[in-house]
Amino acid sequence: MTHPVNPPARLLMGPGPIDADPRVLRALSTPLVGQYDPWMTRTMSETQELYRQVFGTGNDGTVLVDGTSRAGIEAALVSLLAPGDRVLVPVFGRFGHLLVEIATRAGAEVHTVETAWGQVFPVSVVEEAVRRVRPKLVAVVQGDTSTTMNQPLDELGAVCDRYGALLYTDATATIGGNPLEVDAWGIDAATAGLQKCLGGPSGSAPLTVSPRAVEVLHGRRSVEAGIREADDVVAEQPIRSNYLDLAMILDYWGPRRLNHHTEAASMLYAAHECARILLDEGRDAVVARHATAGRAMTEGVQALGLRVFGDLAHKMHNVVAVEIPDDVVGDAVRAAMLEDHGIEIGTSFGPLHGRVWRLGTMGYNARKDAVVTTLAALEHALRRAGHAVPQGGGVDAALDVYAGASSTVGTPSLVEVSA
Ligand SMILES: *Cc1c(COP(=O)(O)O)cnc(C)c1O
Repeated sequence: MTHPVNPPARLLMGPGPIDADPRVLRALSTPLVGQYDPWMTRTMSETQELYRQVFGTGNDGTVLVDGTSRAGIEAALVSLLAPGDRVLVPVFGRFGHLLVEIATRAGAEVHTVETAWGQVFPVSVVEEAVRRVRPKLVAVVQGDTSTTMNQPLDELGAVCDRYGALLYTDATATIGGNPLEVDAWGIDAATAGLQKCLGGPSGSAPLTVSPRAVEVLHGRRSVEAGIREADDVVAEQPIRSNYLDLAMILDYWGPRRLNHHTEAASMLYAAHECARILLDEGRDAVVARHATAGRAMTEGVQALGLRVFGDLAHKMHNVVAVEIPDDVVGDAVRAAMLEDHGIEIGTSFGPLHGRVWRLGTMGYNARKDAVVTTLAALEHALRRAGHAVPQGGGVDAALDVYAGASSTVGTPSLVEVSA
């Protein structure tokens, strides 16, 4: 005997996913339309234009890849890297290792530079590596949620350009909550997902590629056997995936609308609404809201006497890693947060597993009430676990941050609900 899906009420305050904005949930429940319907064609074009604004780019090659963020990462790397191509990956956390893994499977010659978890790279270190390796592509995560660090990218485009390399970034965790300027920073390819600061579910990966990157893709273009025409050229090094073949995906989204896959219409609607929510509020205002929520959460946990992990000057706005005190069991406190308060917080991976909790303030949940509720619950859970904490300190510190911030910060979704 089964039951209709009826999820429990949760406040998702981990490193993602977060609670989807109700506007996005409504968009997800709207009717399906065929992908060659003129309405759908128009909606797809509109979505491309919305994501150009979200990414800060004029790139024609701005599309959605149907799949989670990882599908976007894989589409970019497998399509840009042919077997034997050199790629440089600066690794500063778990997602850097993911780029290494995917590039390796693509048959690329992978070079890495690594820094300690909790740190980012000075530009000079990346530049020295680029000069030595002479890669075709530099692939770097912008914000690595495993460590909460936000790698500055604003000067890397110029460095890559100087040595003839393309620059790719995984901006899944940062987009919306932290500055990202694809064109101004000279980024050739960027990929994202909806489930962090964009306030949607996972399952769609916005992606953008520069004209330089599109040229590389055109050199690897293949044509499906059944639809090949006499004058179609077969590439020497065709892209080794069909589903994630970016050249095909661009042709599918482009003016010719060449058939590739069946549009994941519901996810398109969700992605469209995520972008509209962000742009209605304004890109800078959304970043400011994340900055305030992140600062409130960080100062809140510090006021509870907890230590924050990593180089705070380079922390992403939307996630903070909190060192687990020696006298409590991290997973027991997380379980109490979920069972007693309905709040999900995160653990971490690799060297940080069992050492930190990760608290996210992203998208729809980058709100004063969500921050304050989480801090009150954490204070309570710590006290019940036998750890001494200053009464009310976390909530007060967070409210003080909000009192100092502009009065509109942190409330747009409340305004929206009553509108
Ligand atoms: C959360 C996150 C992802 C998520 O990938 P999915 O395939 O959507 O699970 C990717 N990259 C980074 C840097 C992330 O923080």
